[in-house]
Amino acid sequence: MIFLDAAATTPVRREVLEAMWPFLTGEFGNPSSHHSLGDAAARALEEARKSVAKVLGCRAAEVTFTSGGTEADNMAVKGIALARQAADPALNRVVISAVEHPAVEESARYLERFHGFTVDVAPVDTYGTVTAGALAAVLRPETALVSIMYANNEVGTVQPVAALAALTRARGIPFHTDAVQAAGWLPVDVKALGVDALSISGHKLGAPKGSGVLFVRGRTKAEPLVHGGGQERGRRSGTENVAGAVGLAAALTLAHAGQAALAERVTGLRDKFISAVLDRVPGAVLTGHPSERLPSVASFCFPGTSGESVLLELERQGVVCSSGSACAAGSDAPSPVLVALGIPAEVAQTAVRFSFDSSVTAADLETAAAAVTAAVGSVRNLGHVPN
Ligand code: PLP
Repeated sequence: MIFLDAAATTPVRREVLEAMWPFLTGEFGNPSSHHSLGDAAARALEEARKSVAKVLGCRAAEVTFTSGGTEADNMAVKGIALARQAADPALNRVVISAVEHPAVEESARYLERFHGFTVDVAPVDTYGTVTAGALAAVLRPETALVSIMYANNEVGTVQPVAALAALTRARGIPFHTDAVQAAGWLPVDVKALGVDALSISGHKLGAPKGSGVLFVRGRTKAEPLVHGGGQERGRRSGTENVAGAVGLAAALTLAHAGQAALAERVTGLRDKFISAVLDRVPGAVLTGHPSERLPSVASFCFPGTSGESVLLELERQGVVCSSGSACAAGSDAPSPVLVALGIPAEVAQTAVRFSFDSSVTAADLETAAAAVTAAVGSVRNLGHVPN
């Protein structure tokens, strides 16, 4: 099987599992316990926090471990907006882009439903990019927070985050970015990006599912969402997932060390794969930005097919990929991300996303390109049409 669905999830790396193992077995202490086992767990947690901070270029105190990207996004969007509204009730608007993951979009909608906020949506161009002009046009004096993702999970488009964050900083508005897909592929130095909050998920990086991190800059206040024993400096109560934090820190550190070389290698493979598919499959359309895209994502529409039928055919040929985001899989509605790019609904339903991890090879992608050509051809011959 050739696994080309790494944007959905990745296997746990051996080095990561080895780093975690002691904290799942002999060193099983609760970091809040006042004995040697508890102290060892607390030390491991703080070492993990320092390692994450080193990669992000921030202070350890600015790093909170979470249960994944979704929780980190919820904490940032709801927590920062609510803290700002509490300090000044006039701050009752949040800005998101038209291509956010549901973890950000639904958090903003929750603020609208239950806390009197208005959600302003910054539109994207046909590549899925939020331009500085588009963002500036939706900022208001009442804007409490802006949340715009670093890289899109369906089409791979990378946003000009540093430029967008500079725009909001000049107006004193905190900027959060969902870096779940970017981490491991793009630099995540929070100072260079100029962001006030940034989310990462472990399972996209070779750490286990259910591990994540939220960076929040020291001066930015965020209301906690989970109340209880006051762990994580009161930002997120609940006994910490020590092994998960250790695993995430190990995975992020490993990914960071190899990031530039990996990005260069995989960008070359990605571009060859994109050219092969566009050359060989009549009518194939690349979605997302042609160059400002994740090294790891190649996404297409194949008009005249159904994305789901192409997926099934590809899987029969040993290539596993996705029709869009894992979260939207199985839903009949066209992807809101593709619709936001101006792609007609009937074409959006023919979307297929190929996403790579660090193990991808030229031979894998050569086999995959041939399989795509055959799969699209056979679906078209069978007369599958989007429903
Ligand atoms: N944000 C983006 C851009 C994602 O792609 C995902 C997962 O697919 C998430 C957030 C959610 O992360 P998690 O699965 O860790 O909750």
